[in-house]
Amino acid sequence: MSSLIKSRATAVYGSIDSMQLFDVAIVGGGPAGSSCAASCAVGGLATLALDREKFPREKVCGDCLNPSCWPVLERLALAERVRDLPHSKLSSVAFIAIDGREVIVDLLSGDGCEISVKRSLFDDLLLRRARELGADVHEQTTVSGLHQNGGWRIETASGEIFHARILIGADGRNSTVARLCNLLPRPERERVALQAHVPRPQNFHDRIVLQFLPEGYSGQAPVNETQLNLCLVSTPPTISKLRRWAERQFQLPAGQPWRTITPLTRSPIPSAHQNLFFIGDAARVVEPFTGEGIYYALRSGELAANAIAKILRGDDRNPVLREFGRAYAQMYRGRLWINRLSRAAVLRPQLGSFFVHMARINPSILKLLTAKIVSLG
Ligand SMILES: Cc1cc2nc3c(=O)[nH]c(=O)nc-3n(C[C@H](O)[C@H](O)[C@H](O)COP(=O)(O)OP(=O)(O)OC[C@H]3O[C@@H](n4cnc5c(N)ncnc54)[C@H](O)[C@@H]3O)c2cc1C
Repeated sequence: MSSLIKSRATAVYGSIDSMQLFDVAIVGGGPAGSSCAASCAVGGLATLALDREKFPREKVCGDCLNPSCWPVLERLALAERVRDLPHSKLSSVAFIAIDGREVIVDLLSGDGCEISVKRSLFDDLLLRRARELGADVHEQTTVSGLHQNGGWRIETASGEIFHARILIGADGRNSTVARLCNLLPRPERERVALQAHVPRPQNFHDRIVLQFLPEGYSGQAPVNETQLNLCLVSTPPTISKLRRWAERQFQLPAGQPWRTITPLTRSPIPSAHQNLFFIGDAARVVEPFTGEGIYYALRSGELAANAIAKILRGDDRNPVLREFGRAYAQMYRGRLWINRLSRAAVLRPQLGSFFVHMARINPSILKLLTAKIVSLG
């Protein structure tokens, strides 16, 4: 621990030798936590980031980076390093109806295009960036207890204790921070997702495929020359049928390992509380079909860091929180209806297929929706 932090700890909490006090403690080192930790560290805050996993680690995700991520990555001086990772540039989205008919919508091209990159690589790069910028990052550290005493006392499963003035829940859709603070909404366990990296079929172009099936839907995107990200989303009773479809369609071995995640939907948690923020999936889970979750994670992390830096600098808390609330709402403005529409379409694949049929007659509908999703700033 730096002497600066230690002296601050002593000033605020008295002499507690073994104590580690930080300005901000971030639970979760995914895109939300890393972006927040990097931005806090740049702002000169004594920043702690804790993640239960050892990185690099995979994560159930479609691996697609929405173009709106680029400005945040530029601000973190990471855009070029992300482009240096193995990835695919995605030139179109193919929507396939249950009867196999499809509609193709072109995506933006050039440097700001949509890409797919394995989350193991992307998240590891982000977390390393946070560390480079000065955040104190602890992997394999599971937060298991919290006590609010003006600031926060944070306990880990291995018995370590940390103290921080402000706490951030960036620990995903099943947020432990929210659960420990009695803020976690009851999950809606109506659907489950499976994900795997499988051999890329020959002639699978650089495109995203969103395919409606009687049991749910499948998202597919190449992540490099040899591997395809394959996601399946369905209800618990029908997911094994969808898995068998995938095994046949992509000639997978019977023992193909799958990663799994649930819930795919739950009520949002307000982002700002007293000395406590929620960011990324911990605050709001969006429909995976829209492929926007990473952007919201990165951007909400950045917004929370800006607000916290101002509060800890001594700015008047209420105006700072109001400004944060406006910027946070702006991030989602005009977009949640797409989330609801997507959710309705994927909950009833017949309805999703109907959209694809309509789009074959009038392609501007789907083009408009896709443009909305991939061109936010
Ligand atoms: C099937 C599916 C497909 C998707 N496809 C896409 C896509 O193509 N593009 C897109 O943009 N989004 C997609 N998403 C959404 C995207 O994956 C999430 O929105 C994104 O990962 C959110 O990032 P986050 O940092 O908030 O949370 P996470 O990425 O979930 O990170 C949370 C971190 O917290 C850590 N953690 C949890 N509990 C603790 C604890 N108690 N102590 C310490 N650490 C803890 C975890 O180990 C994890 O590293 C998809 C989601 C699903 C389910």
